[in-house]
Amino acid sequence: MTWQQRIDGALEQRRATGSFRIRQVNHQGSGRFLEQGDTRYLNFSSNDYLGISHHPEVIRAWQDGAEKYGVGSGGSGHVTGYNEAHRQFEEQLADWLGYPRALLFISGFAANQALITALTEKPDRILADKLSHASLLEAAMLSPAQLRRFAHNDVAALKTLLAQPIDGQKLVITEGVFSMDGDEAPLAEIARATLEAQGLLLVDDAHGIGVLGAEGRGSCYQQHVKPDLLVVTFGKAFGASGAAVLCSESMADYLLQFARHLIYSTAMPPAQACALSAALKVIRRDDSRREQLRANIARFRAGAGQLPLKLMASQTAIQPLIVGENEAAVSLAVTLRERGFWLTAIRPPTVPAGSARLRVTLTASHTVEDIDLLLEALYDATR
Ligand SMILES: *Cc1c(COP(=O)(O)O)cnc(C)c1O
Repeated sequence: MTWQQRIDGALEQRRATGSFRIRQVNHQGSGRFLEQGDTRYLNFSSNDYLGISHHPEVIRAWQDGAEKYGVGSGGSGHVTGYNEAHRQFEEQLADWLGYPRALLFISGFAANQALITALTEKPDRILADKLSHASLLEAAMLSPAQLRRFAHNDVAALKTLLAQPIDGQKLVITEGVFSMDGDEAPLAEIARATLEAQGLLLVDDAHGIGVLGAEGRGSCYQQHVKPDLLVVTFGKAFGASGAAVLCSESMADYLLQFARHLIYSTAMPPAQACALSAALKVIRRDDSRREQLRANIARFRAGAGQLPLKLMASQTAIQPLIVGENEAAVSLAVTLRERGFWLTAIRPPTVPAGSARLRVTLTASHTVEDIDLLLEALYDATR
């Protein structure tokens, strides 16, 4: 078989199973509206949960940062790329979340890969929630350690795995809020079990940070838990991109020695750190955004409870509507799009077979009227 035959075969298989992935160009996609061609849709697929991607203070901070520092960092943080704007934002993050140190990464995907590969060795065991994000599970599979997945949010199953004696160390991985179901992990119980087994706990709070807890400190703060490694990302509630790892002094020093995604990769532009710093200020002080989001979630759930679709037990911005079969989920998304709503159908293998769904994400930019319009359209489409 040649390279070309291998590639053509893989593409053919994707098309045959109806799972061929494409991207669609838009002129505007992160906020309340998504614009494509001449059409404007109400956007219920964005992770910009607090509507910060278009915040004037954040845009101004990015512009000012670019004026001052240029558009790029000029290198890896280990060479010339570590700017005062990075250091200041790291200190603000550490102070906000109550950790000794914060380290910036270019993305959540990179942060998770870096942590898992820098920390684990051959005799170790990684115990990860079965529904953990692809970046965590993939890094765990590529790492020299053994990966064991435990049933979703099942602390008893985790304890059984933790009780098995092994030669190496144990790394426990879960998320604050799960990206496809919107439900939350029992972090206090997981932290206790991990501590008892002398394991290390990594919590990825991509969807909880900014949104949950006082001043948006996230799932861990809300559940009074301080994991050894807290990963927060800036592509969701911060409205931009990038990530940080919150940890102890010695862990930060260790990662600076061994995290290859830090050492061999260009640091985030300093101007972006300036923008993220401005976003953090808005997140800490502006409770009204979280309140609007909570009100939108409550309104959506009350209305969606009347639909012939299954709602998940989610109190967060992620509100999946389970349709079941792939074709039905796609056809519902198409019907809604024709009525002016942008929603994404999520199919296996991203979610378990038979649980194809519309992944509705609500944001603080939506008005109560937006939510009611969506509910009406859903009601008409499923009647
Ligand atoms: C989005 C997401 C990531 C990836 O973060 P990026 O910054 O987009 O690379 C990692 N983990 C979880 C749980 C996510 O939802």
